[in-house]
Amino acid sequence: MPAANVPIIAIDGYSSCGKSTLAKALANALDLIYIDSGAMYRAVTLYVLRQGISPTDQISVEKILPRIKIDFSHDHGGNRTLLNGVDVELAIRSMEVSKSVSPIATIPMVRRMLVEQQRNMATHQGVAMDGRDIGTIVFPNAPLKLFLTADIEVRVTRRVQQLAAQGKHVQRKAIRKNLLTRDYIDATRSDSPLRKATDAVLMDNTNLTPHEQKELALTLFRTRLTV
Ligand code: C5P
Repeated sequence: MPAANVPIIAIDGYSSCGKSTLAKALANALDLIYIDSGAMYRAVTLYVLRQGISPTDQISVEKILPRIKIDFSHDHGGNRTLLNGVDVELAIRSMEVSKSVSPIATIPMVRRMLVEQQRNMATHQGVAMDGRDIGTIVFPNAPLKLFLTADIEVRVTRRVQQLAAQGKHVQRKAIRKNLLTRDYIDATRSDSPLRKATDAVLMDNTNLTPHEQKELALTLFRTRLTV
């Protein structure tokens, strides 16, 4: 566990709710390291798919876990995910990975491996980390926990725009189905289900700009630190 004086912001919530945009903005404003825990589950998924293993074949997935090393490169203000030393930032955002990541994330051994790494990343430096179990499991003592939600159509639009920025054009229907399926699997799995920590602040950002969300979160952070 991180030392008590290491500042940690835990951001959880549904898929495509703007968690990473907010976590990045807060990390910049407060000089924290931004960690996208979803990218780690995506990197494991990419490796599994590349090995030709089915995401529901738990025993085969568990066997190959020791071969996986995930790092982040924070050079030049960027945040790139490295899988065994190779930049996979674009590959992990594909629809193929999006479709298989939630089944992989139900596997307890996968979660144990990644949670341990996530905690280690905050041993010496403050972090803003986004995911599904950050406030409940990874950092239950984080001084600020946020739980984000937004209208499903707004989330679909954000995801469409995100993918379009990477030159990928996916139908709204396919994206809506993927977001809802992931929400369902994430919220109903038995190990570390997606849920709001009792002390997390609920933020519905349907009608909030990224700037408004950042300002709200910064006010909350300062208030929590001075209490
Ligand atoms: O955040 P992102 O949408 O990229 O996460 C992809 C998937 O990884 C989620 O739908 C969820 O299945 C899994 N995940 C998780 N726990 C986390 C972060 C992500 O189970 N802390």
